[in-house]
This record gives sequence, C-alpha cells and structure tokens, in this order.
Amino acid sequence: MEAFTYTGLPMRVVFGAGCIGQLTAEIEKLGAKRALVLSTPGRGESVRQVVAGLGPLLAGIYDKAVMHVPVEVVADARRVADELGADCCISVGGGSTTGLGKAIALTSGLPIIAVPTTYSGSEMTTILGMTEGGLKKTVRDPRVLPRTVIYDPELTLGLPAALSAASGLNAIAHCVEALYAADGNPINSLQAEEGIRALARALPRIMKTPRDMVARSDALYGAWLAGVSFATTGMGLHHKLCHVLGGTFNLPHAETHSIVLPHAARYNRDAAPEAMARIARALGAPDAPRGLYDLETKLGLAQRLSEIGMPREGLERAAKIATESPYPNPRKVEYAGVLSLLDDAYEGRRPAA
Ligand code: NAD
Repeated sequence: MEAFTYTGLPMRVVFGAGCIGQLTAEIEKLGAKRALVLSTPGRGESVRQVVAGLGPLLAGIYDKAVMHVPVEVVADARRVADELGADCCISVGGGSTTGLGKAIALTSGLPIIAVPTTYSGSEMTTILGMTEGGLKKTVRDPRVLPRTVIYDPELTLGLPAALSAASGLNAIAHCVEALYAADGNPINSLQAEEGIRALARALPRIMKTPRDMVARSDALYGAWLAGVSFATTGMGLHHKLCHVLGGTFNLPHAETHSIVLPHAARYNRDAAPEAMARIARALGAPDAPRGLYDLETKLGLAQRLSEIGMPREGLERAAKIATESPYPNPRKVEYAGVLSLLDDAYEGRRPAA
C-alpha cells in the first residue's frame, strides 16, 4: 500500500430515528444553558415543534437563514444571540442553515449542534461559504465544525422527494470527488464508496415512498459518509464547475450538482480508473459516468442545464472561468474539453461510452 495521510475531525455523532429526543442531553453535555435555534423562514413552524421540549434551555428561534450565508444575516443572527444571552446554537435544516451556524461559530466561538434535514453533508466539513457584496468566498477553518451532529431520519420524512433526490446527488458528488482527490486516502475512499452505495440504494425508494424510514435512514447515513469523506480531501473539476455555475449564473445548488456530475465523471473517467471502478461497483453499474446518469434518469431529476436557467451563451464564459484557476483534478483542466463537458450538460446527453 502506498503511504498516505489521513485527517480525522473531532465530532460527536448521534444517529437514529427519534434521536432528536436526546437534544436536551446533548446541550447539557456542552455545559450550555441557553440555546438559540436556527432555521430557514419556511421551516420555522416545524422547527418550533422539534425543539418544543427544550423548556428553559430554549433561548429563542432565529428563522432567517438563507442560501449562501450572507454576512448581513450572520451579523443579525449574532446580534440576536447576544441579546438573548445564548451560549450555544442549534442549526436545524439543510446546508443553508448549517452554514449560518458555522458562520456564527467562526465569528463568536459559540458551540454548535447541527441537526441536518437534507443530504448536503455540510455539517461534517470545515468548509464555510459566505457571501459579501454578492461575492461568495469560501474558507476552511476548524472553528466552524459543529461540536455534535444529530442525524434523525424522522426529520427528513417531509423533505420533498425531488429535493431529496437532488440533495442526495449533491452528496454522491462529494463522494465521487473524494475518490479521485489528489490528497485522497484509503480510509476516505472506503467511506465515499459506502456513501454512494447507501444513497444509490435509498434514493429510488424515497422517490416511490417518501416516508420509507429504512430508505431515509440509509440516505442520511450516506450523506454523513459523503460529508466525512469530502471534509478532508480537496475538490476537483466538478465542484469548481458547480461553484462557477452557482456563483456567476445563480443556478440552484443541488440541481446543478446533479446535472454536472455524470459529465464531470466522464471527463475524468480515463484519468481515474480506480475511483471509477469503485463508483461503478457502488452503483451496481458497468460504467461510472453512465451509471450516475442512469440513476438520475430513474429518479426523474432535471438533466439539462438549459432546464434550470443556464443561458446557452454563458457556456463559454463558464468554461473560461473554470479553467482560469482550476482545482486539482485527475485530468488536466482544458478549455475545449470543459466547454464540451458543459455543452453535454446543457443538452443533457448520456455520457459517451
Ligand atoms: P438548503 O439548506 O438551502 O435547503 C433547501 C430548502 O429545503 C430550503 O427551503 C429549506 O427550508 C428546505 N428544507 C430543508 N430541510 C427540509 C425538510 N426536512 N423538509 C422540508 N423542507 C426542508 O439546501 P441544501 O441543499 O441542504 O444546502 C445548500 C447550501 O449548502 C448551499 O449554499 C451550499 O453551498 C451549502 N453546502 C455547503 C457545504 C459545506 O461543506 N460547506 C456542503 C454542501 C452544501
């Protein structure tokens, strides 16, 4: 076996249906007495029910988390936390809510308990994306890590099937890039492959029966593994393209990931044979890029960038930005190839054999 470096991040994870019931004990374990709960505007009511049992430990609910963590929202949430005398934060929601919690942790040092309700995997990483003046900047900082993560699949039962599928593919994308990362290692690869397997098994079942608890548990387990495997490895061409498309063309996060992924995998296929073999094995498919595409077809996901608001005349600009300062990638990132990748994603073509 070749030499490698593995970084483990310090995190306590509580997993299982109904385990949100342990929230009080987890807050007390932190030595905290006043928790500020974070959520998105639309989820305020259901989050209120989730934390109803906290009694005097509940300092308040801040339900103004939005996509891309604007610095103004972070400052507002911190002001509320100060006013309420909060000594910890509980983020209950997807990547946007988790991101707000991480930003508060970075700037205030308050401990965070994350309760993820999508498959974004953000709760497992030291990565934080924030927007200031319309520009998104990304930092990696261990201070943003939640102290505890509570994965309760019951809280994902209401995540709409289509959103579940897109979010699940976002998690699979984390696994795919972890498998061919320049700084990858056998431990991360184990987790990434198992993450793809669990999600690929669960998502079709969730599409058929959104309240299938076994499938919801599998998907959340897969999302956890995706977050862990992605947390300590570098991102490649796929994430670079999604950042460009999201940042410059304002395309929706999870859908962009799912549309681009089979094409990014096709771009890298011949340069990363071992990763591709693992991806294919986890999908139970003969070919990784086609297996990803076929999974998305089965899930009924959007497969064309044209469907989610990408202007055709933007493809060249996106290819240019993505190739100007590329992330490390198994295959050299070159303009012509990336433009052709984007054209395939724009048209939703099945990756070539
Ligand atoms: P999101 O958090 O924006 O949530 C999408 C929508 O789903 C919201 O309207 C939310 O209220 C709703 N929702 C969430 N959980 C629900 C549930 N259980 N039932 C019903 N509705 C629910 O979306 P996301 O895809 O989870 O996160 C995307 C954001 O996370 C992006 O900004 C992305 O950059 C970030 N992200 C960060 C990392 C990281 O490591 N830093 C990793 C992945 C994603």
